[in-house]
Amino acid sequence: MRNKYDVLVIGGGPAGALAAKTAVEKGLTACIVEKRPAIGAPVRCAEGIGKEALLEFIEADPRWISAEMTGAGIVAPDGFFMKLESAIAGSKVGYVLDRKIFDRELVWRAAEAGADVAVKSRAAAPILEDGVVKGAKVEYCGKVMKVSADVVVAADGVESKFSKWCGIDTTVPVREIMSSVQYVMADIDIDPHSTIFYLGSDVAPEGYLWVFPKGARSANVGIGISGRKSGTGHRAKDYLDRFVKKTFPKGKTIEYIPGGVSVCRPLDCTVGDGLLIAGDAARVVDPLTGGGIYNAMVTGRLAAEVAADCIGKGDLSKKALMVYDKTWRTSRMGKAIERNYHIKEYLIKQPDEKLNEIIHSVSKLNLQEFSTLTLIKELIRINPRLVLELGALAASIR
Ligand SMILES: Cc1cc2nc3c(=O)[nH]c(=O)nc-3n(C[C@H](O)[C@H](O)[C@H](O)COP(=O)(O)OP(=O)(O)OC[C@H]3O[C@@H](n4cnc5c(N)ncnc54)[C@H](O)[C@@H]3O)c2cc1C
Repeated sequence: MRNKYDVLVIGGGPAGALAAKTAVEKGLTACIVEKRPAIGAPVRCAEGIGKEALLEFIEADPRWISAEMTGAGIVAPDGFFMKLESAIAGSKVGYVLDRKIFDRELVWRAAEAGADVAVKSRAAAPILEDGVVKGAKVEYCGKVMKVSADVVVAADGVESKFSKWCGIDTTVPVREIMSSVQYVMADIDIDPHSTIFYLGSDVAPEGYLWVFPKGARSANVGIGISGRKSGTGHRAKDYLDRFVKKTFPKGKTIEYIPGGVSVCRPLDCTVGDGLLIAGDAARVVDPLTGGGIYNAMVTGRLAAEVAADCIGKGDLSKKALMVYDKTWRTSRMGKAIERNYHIKEYLIKQPDEKLNEIIHSVSKLNLQEFSTLTLIKELIRINPRLVLELGALAASIR
């Protein structure tokens, strides 16, 4: 690690890897600092990603694909099973990754393109000059090193502290943190090519439970529930244990993964003077699905593209960097986040009976392709008052 880079990237997840790789491809110097001793581990993810989304960034490679999904299913609170076959499952058709290898591959590619990588290196504080971010103090093996940079990309994930240290409000309301637990389970009876989502207040209040296959008889079996629904005797793990006991009584748990996912709106502003915030740190997870790998890669890449432009022009002010914030917010991804936030807010308020009605009703549609749009249209048909809640958004899709 040198003591000066064009771009310093905090965090070696998908957002950080794409930021560093893009920066060096643009001719800049870049370094990723990652606090963990190894990239990709421990995994805190169900590892699902749509095929098309993934292929926007990298060609599929069996080394880091655990399973290929050709369908999806939703289990309603009353136990009704809605199967979405490959022809209609749309973006739900995809891969279950092996993120220990996938994340490593992304950082590997950044390194091969010319980025420096420092593991077991924690950004402990920003270097600030008159409120402008000029780099970070990085802790490595008990020593602190000052690393200067023209731009810092904060890609430090859901637990992000860097932007807060730079004066940005990153608070997530408790109700919008999904408290999550996942088991990697072996020796269980599953459909190895279908992701299954379970809904209902008894199963996963204000959230959902998932079974994402990892092989013929193994899967990520996990749950996310709203932080405000979690408490003694009814934590996410309690719900998951009850489900596992009933559904996979003979299964073996070979990994236990706790974690949190933010399902709030993105940060009000994802830039500062000399600072760009990407991925989970920017709160760009899809609030409806909790999926954030793709959005992390999109924002990581864009952050570096904007950094390169602004470095070229010699202007790293917040005003100049705002093009990053504006671009992702008005992109398809940004619009989907806003739309899905409204749908999530609507769905979590519905009692089980209403969720049953919605799922039964959607299952009767002659679907060409299941998509969020199909879901909204059906939701509006069932509950015309929703138009008022969704406002202009609903009007634009009717
Ligand atoms: C239980 C669970 C299930 C999920 N399932 C899915 C799914 O199926 N599909 C999907 O798309 N998404 C899923 N997600 C979300 C997904 O994991 C994240 O959106 C994605 O990893 C975000 O990438 P990122 O690069 O922004 O952050 P991360 O992958 O979290 O990477 C951030 C990195 O920054 C490092 N870091 C933090 N602070 C510092 C510091 N001060 N200095 C140096 N390094 C630091 C961290 O160690 C970490 O490696 C899930 C999340 C959870 C918790």
